[in-house]
Amino acid sequence: RRSRDRFVGVPPVEVLQSVFGFPAFRGLQEDAVSRVMAGEDTLVLMPTGGGKSICYQVPALCRPGMGLVVSPLIALMDDQVAALRQLGINAAALHSELDGDESSRIHFELTAGQIDILYVSPERLLSPGTLGRLSRMQVSVIAIDEAHCVSAWGHEFRPEYRALENLPQHFSGVPRIALTATADPRTRKDILAALAMPGAAVLSASFHRSNLIISARPKGGEMKQVTAILNRHKGEACIVYCGSRARTERVAASLRERGWPACAFHAGLSPIEKRAALHRFRSGEPIVMVATIAFGMGIDRPDVRAVVHLDMPSSPEAYYQQIGRAGRDGLPSDTLLLYGGEDMTRARYWLDQSAAPDSEKRVMRSRLEAMIALTETTACRTRALLTCFGETLQKPCGHCDNCRSPVPTFDGTKAARMLLSAIYRTGQRFGALHVIGVLRGKVSEPATRNGHDKLSVWGIGKEHSENFWRGVVRQLIARGALMMGNEHGGLMLQNDIARPILRGEEEVRLREDAVQAETGGARGGR
Ligand code: ADP
Ligand code: ZN
Repeated sequence: RRSRDRFVGVPPVEVLQSVFGFPAFRGLQEDAVSRVMAGEDTLVLMPTGGGKSICYQVPALCRPGMGLVVSPLIALMDDQVAALRQLGINAAALHSELDGDESSRIHFELTAGQIDILYVSPERLLSPGTLGRLSRMQVSVIAIDEAHCVSAWGHEFRPEYRALENLPQHFSGVPRIALTATADPRTRKDILAALAMPGAAVLSASFHRSNLIISARPKGGEMKQVTAILNRHKGEACIVYCGSRARTERVAASLRERGWPACAFHAGLSPIEKRAALHRFRSGEPIVMVATIAFGMGIDRPDVRAVVHLDMPSSPEAYYQQIGRAGRDGLPSDTLLLYGGEDMTRARYWLDQSAAPDSEKRVMRSRLEAMIALTETTACRTRALLTCFGETLQKPCGHCDNCRSPVPTFDGTKAARMLLSAIYRTGQRFGALHVIGVLRGKVSEPATRNGHDKLSVWGIGKEHSENFWRGVVRQLIARGALMMGNEHGGLMLQNDIARPILRGEEEVRLREDAVQAETGGARGGR
């Protein structure tokens, strides 16, 4: 029988070569491994595909005892276990979907000390029976994968992760390594605090993925925009992200009608349906996965050639993670984000409606604002995105849409001033539609009732279409000159930025495409 500790005393790099078949450590792996070997707590920030698993798998084998890996997703665990078993490592996963036989086999092997690496869901790990049993065993390292799940600010918060702060009490002296692909400073701070590892070394890799070609465009006939990009990737794998379950079903059906091998994926599917969809995706066949954010963690298909967002993600972190599912093989891959003013207002509305405490809402709001700014930027998108993660790209990437074709802009100073004055004169409590109605002199009951048809701004923006004005609103929001002041989407001036524009002290360049598009499309109910 193989001994669990057969690699103790073997240098980590030899285990990397002989067990995993890699010639050398990559990037931060070596640093991370040697810190864990030395018994230190570590936080590793690495983009998806960066090679996080090696950081805990190698020390798990090289240190005496069994490696314990906390992971939030069953699919993810099962994948890793299967891969390790192929390498001759006795790995196992404890989670709620095990059948009785599996479960008793694992327990037998645990007792016999035969398991090299045990994957476990947080709720299972912290259940009294399991915790008691595991804490009596010798553990080489505790890895906390997808560690951003512990952060309530994050987009994938899992309350079960909170209880992980108690781990040191049960496994004293065992080094912990937390790993995540979410790098913003706020989440980082949260992870260290919530996992009670204030002294941990933080190792952060670059998040620049130079093979991702980032582009974003205002919505204007969504299905046409989506199929245009899919056409460039016939016979390949693509992911189309949507904001709601119903929408994935609708879009998938509509793509199938047009002959695309489209498949919907969302949290409302039965486990069997989910498994079938994942199986299709992983099999390597051509597929267009039309999915909500439920399709994410643990998806490891290297040859995804395009990621399209039909709806705007809620934060740059979520966006980065989702586009990061393209091009894991390092080959050039397309990403396209479609956005509209409605997306932005709706996202704000839901945020306002959420039951979260104000402090949390403020953080989510600032992430949303950063996301909006990213969609509207006329500068290098790759650089703007990396800035969100505290990383500076020395020069523009050269291959995002804005780098390849500089955005045509026009002098929108006059229009911006008109809009800001209309918002000011109507008392800073009405939504975009009403204000635009006032600018265009559109008679309505609320306009008459509030006496807005008597204002000096009434009808001064008649020569422009409603779409034009929507584009101006969105860009002034993106610029930070406007914000939502109430739950009805009421617009308010952000004085520091709005005042110089109103006084005519500042020129406002607006994107031409933003005031032209924004028509039709298969939008609606989510
Ligand atoms: P992450 O968890 O960060 O998304 P993984 O641990 O799944 O990344 O690794 C991503 C890919 O990189 C895997 O296919 C893995 O085989 C490969 N990989 C990891 N470390 C190395 C290395 N040192 N040399 C070569 N390839 C590696
Ligand atoms: Zn660029």
